[in-house]
Amino acid sequence: MELYHLTVSSLAKKIKEKEITIKEVLDNLYTRIEAVEQKVDAYITLTKEYAYERAKILQERLDAGEDIGIMGGVPIAIKDNICTNGIKTTCASKMLENFVPFYNATVIEKLENAGAIIIGKANMDEFAMGSSTENSAIKKTKNPWDNERVPGGSSGGSAAAVSSEIAYCALGTDTGGSIRQPASFCSVVGLKPTYGLVSRYGVVAYASSLDQVGPITKSVEDAALLLNVIAGNDKKDSTSANLEKKDYLQSLINDIQGKKLGVPKKFIETGLNADVKKAYEDALQTLEDLGAEIVDISLDYAKYSLPTYYIIATAEASSNLGRYDGIRYGHRAKNFDSLEELYVKSRTEGFGDEVKRRIMLGTYVLSAGYYDAYYKRGQQVRTLIIEDFKKAFETCDAIVIPTTPNTSFKFGEKTSNPIEMYLEDIFTVPVNIAGLPAISVPGGFDTKGMPIGMQFISKAFDEETLLQIAYTFEQNTNFHESKPTI
Ligand code: GLN
Repeated sequence: MELYHLTVSSLAKKIKEKEITIKEVLDNLYTRIEAVEQKVDAYITLTKEYAYERAKILQERLDAGEDIGIMGGVPIAIKDNICTNGIKTTCASKMLENFVPFYNATVIEKLENAGAIIIGKANMDEFAMGSSTENSAIKKTKNPWDNERVPGGSSGGSAAAVSSEIAYCALGTDTGGSIRQPASFCSVVGLKPTYGLVSRYGVVAYASSLDQVGPITKSVEDAALLLNVIAGNDKKDSTSANLEKKDYLQSLINDIQGKKLGVPKKFIETGLNADVKKAYEDALQTLEDLGAEIVDISLDYAKYSLPTYYIIATAEASSNLGRYDGIRYGHRAKNFDSLEELYVKSRTEGFGDEVKRRIMLGTYVLSAGYYDAYYKRGQQVRTLIIEDFKKAFETCDAIVIPTTPNTSFKFGEKTSNPIEMYLEDIFTVPVNIAGLPAISVPGGFDTKGMPIGMQFISKAFDEETLLQIAYTFEQNTNFHESKPTI
């Protein structure tokens, strides 16, 4: 078996037991990247030199008998909106095309302390705004299952890299589905942790009350392992939860006997593609056969999630992106006659269309005359959605719904109509609005052979239940075993 087929946990074990050296791991992986990357275009930056330097240091420490960490020597891809010291962090935007941070995000510090090696920065929708990675100003990432189709977004580069095995694992960010949706489109595992579980320090802000960092992996076990590494309180992030540290690997129990799984029938009824519907029904049957009890729940306000999301997220984005003024950092226009012109030109040249659309929308809903009508109401509906979930969790341990209503679409299919693109997120967005954890696991294929993802949602900070159910589903199905031919 080729080395690059391994999961994080099995690779870390082989390195630790000296069956292979870290250099061999990198040699094998970069050879794979050289062969495959041109077909997938998952990476904005490859950090080969840096990776080999890290490998050398880690190997020396390992050979000296030191414990190099739970991810010792394991290569990882990082979404390009997570700051990496000395490594370009572009957010796939012209605005930050040449931005090199001089500090690490907390998640990067944690990964490095656990022995992981950054092998590259992954492509994404500009500033994480999008569902197909087509909004990247740098390149077009292809879905490894069909190069005429999108990998999903906004963490499309991360998901495509893991799916095509040019990364053992990756970090993504999820504001409205950006980890789970591309994971679903590429047939890998994507975990969006509870808001506050993982530090956002050093993660370029899109919508601060919704953003969370999480792992994209080949298995549920790897998702648990990465969560162990990146979760935890951080004084540099005031929204970071101060809770006792948990070992999520303990949750990998192949048993869901008696677990109550909620199905919000009415909410998912409309717009569900026939193949996805069939895969969903099969998944429910599998879960029932494994001893789970399927219970009806209602999420009455979930249908308002998208308008709510596009008010709150754009409002926060318009404020967060105000900092790119062409002066402090970021793209600066060359010719200008006044300060005003410098601002306008720099922002006009630096931002893409979707980012501009959202800044305009966000500025509008926050403006004096419209604040109450839009932003305030958006926040009120947000509370209703949170209450909805709370009520649902009184009768179930977790909720199961497809990750997306449709499978991956062709390039250009939805770019001319932003609303159509936004609708793709209907099943992932409510989770961010309520700050809950959710995971997407491979759950089938449509008639064209494109992957389908199943999503589990649990109570806030109950990643244990989430992982246990997802693990059981994975262990008793074989969708994750299929790999794209690339
Ligand atoms: N697709 C959604 C959007 O366009 C979600 C993006 C995300 O989660 N970063 O905003």
